[in-house]
Amino acid sequence: MCYRAACGAGKRIRRSASIHVNCAITVWLRVLVVEDEALLSRQLAKALADAGYAVDCADDGEQADFLIRTEPYDAVMLDLGLPKLDGLTLLRQWRDTGVAVPVLILTARGSWHEKVQGIDGGADDYVAKPFRIEEVLARVRALIRRARGLARSQLTCGALTLDIGTAGVSVAGAPIKLTSHEFRVLSYLMHHGGRVVSRAELTEHIYAQDFDRDSNTVEVFVARLRRKLGAPFIETVRGVGYRMRDPSGGA
Ligand code: CA
Repeated sequence: MCYRAACGAGKRIRRSASIHVNCAITVWLRVLVVEDEALLSRQLAKALADAGYAVDCADDGEQADFLIRTEPYDAVMLDLGLPKLDGLTLLRQWRDTGVAVPVLILTARGSWHEKVQGIDGGADDYVAKPFRIEEVLARVRALIRRARGLARSQLTCGALTLDIGTAGVSVAGAPIKLTSHEFRVLSYLMHHGGRVVSRAELTEHIYAQDFDRDSNTVEVFVARLRRKLGAPFIETVRGVGYRMRDPSGGA
């Protein structure tokens, strides 16, 4: 389920094995799990993938550092006790060099002073092991929501509503059934409000790293979304990308 990336030389090893994005359309964004305990890493990756995230994994600090500097993530789950480079040092380095991705620390170090160190080191939230996966998922949703400046779990564009918590999409109250990739595309566009999002950016965010990426498929997803939504909520900005707009002319 997780792939391995070779660090140091900057060379990547890709596995052709497909992963994640099984079915459940529950989320939309791309996350990195940094955890050296193989079983726990697999469990986290599976839970996140089942919830709909595109998931990459790293099992040491150097690999995590390599990935965070080369791939766009919407959130990171970071263990503190890691081989090669410990999580706290890594986090401080990221924050010192402007890496602003939301970070949720997952660690067995449950004592209060270590939590304080983690938060002071730049973590956005903290969960001590053992934890319930439901709590981790809820915290990840909240982190991403806060990072987007959203107080509520619903995004709207005119009559179109996307509920982050339930992954429901509706137009004028009528539910719309979407595939996981269609949902990811719509969710990413809605999370970015009226900003124009390029096909390349969309492609990077809707697939995990070992997926074969093809930006042409984004066009296919957008075409299907337009059909299903029944109104021109997604505008094509020629030569640039896509953005959400309210077809009724509102904000
Ligand atoms: Ca560890």
